[in-house]
Amino acid sequence: MDKLDLYAVLSVTKDATSEEIKKNYRKLAKEFHPDKNPGSDEKFKEISFAYEVLSDPEKRRIYDRYGIKGLQEGAEGHSDASDFFAQWFPFGGQANAERSRRDGRILVKLELTLEEIYVGKQQKQVQYKRQKLCEKCNGDGGPKEARQECESCGGAGHTAAFTFMGLSAFDAVCPTCDGRGFTIKEKQRCKQCTGSGFVDEAMKRNVDIEAGVPHMLKLPFANEGHQQRSGDFGDLYVVIVQAEHTLFQRRHANLYMRDLEINITEALCGYTHCFKHLDGRNVCMTTQPGEVLRHNHIKMMRNAGMPVFQKPSDHGDLYVQFKVQMPPNDFATQPQLALLEDLLPARERVVVPPGAEEVSMTDYKPQARQARSETDDDDDYHGQSPHFESVQCQTT
Ligand SMILES: [Zn+2]
Ligand SMILES: [Zn+2]
Repeated sequence: MDKLDLYAVLSVTKDATSEEIKKNYRKLAKEFHPDKNPGSDEKFKEISFAYEVLSDPEKRRIYDRYGIKGLQEGAEGHSDASDFFAQWFPFGGQANAERSRRDGRILVKLELTLEEIYVGKQQKQVQYKRQKLCEKCNGDGGPKEARQECESCGGAGHTAAFTFMGLSAFDAVCPTCDGRGFTIKEKQRCKQCTGSGFVDEAMKRNVDIEAGVPHMLKLPFANEGHQQRSGDFGDLYVVIVQAEHTLFQRRHANLYMRDLEINITEALCGYTHCFKHLDGRNVCMTTQPGEVLRHNHIKMMRNAGMPVFQKPSDHGDLYVQFKVQMPPNDFATQPQLALLEDLLPARERVVVPPGAEEVSMTDYKPQARQARSETDDDDDYHGQSPHFESVQCQTT
């Protein structure tokens, strides 16, 4: 399955734009939709999968660099797509479990809070199960004379390929006999392992958490994975997954506080904001006297970000973006407004041409297309207009 070329699936070149990818996907998805085209399920899945990867810049980058394998493993240690892991791991399901048991590798997810990553210097434990050769029957599953030819594969140890998301198989080892070509007659199966030759072993592994450890980092532990028929043990990988944080977003060692709301008085007259940093200390940020904060203004606090992985004496930066909230209608009387106007920059002088038509403005409120009403006013609306967005879409 690593060989599947997702660009070829969508009939685009490697440098295709997102528009070309979208266009070809739509065309092919229509053509191969299973409703219209029975028997094309696999092809349709390939197309959907290719689109899912290539339409997402992050996944496309990983695919370009590491191939499909990279997508499965989250090869990009610094990936910011926190849902990436969740998206790729569960659907491994049966196929992934089968494969894992054969190459012995086990991936275990270790979720950490941003606070835990910031502070580091602690130990966490993961618990998992691995397969081990049954000691009672030495992994044979039963006595030699109880062996019978596997019905699924006719003794070959291989069957037709098991497909995964419509891609070609990991391998074609027969799942019934696990490639051995035989099974053990039911009555003579080892009681401990019910004839499979393997038993589960509950495992624990302590993991030292270093400050600043990257999201999706894989920590390898040799020989702590599944035992294989050969007797060798595969490796365990503990995958660090950073939980989402309510206040901060993280990219590498930098932290971001988006959409920090301030009111117009704070924007104009001075602003102080205190928050608890990830190690519990209080941090206060203050504007300079006379400084004005504009809407969408971004400020940086040097070294107030995360510790740098494996160099925890260094820190990233903290970025804050401000959203200035305007006061509601009628917040001041006319005389008060006159006073305010004296302080604020002058208004534009407007000469109304004689006979000019006067039109009134109403608030625009985005609504579902069919129910749109231009006269409906709503003071709550501050967002972006889908009117403008849809215009942009049409021009592409
Ligand atoms: Zn056994
Ligand atoms: Zn078989």
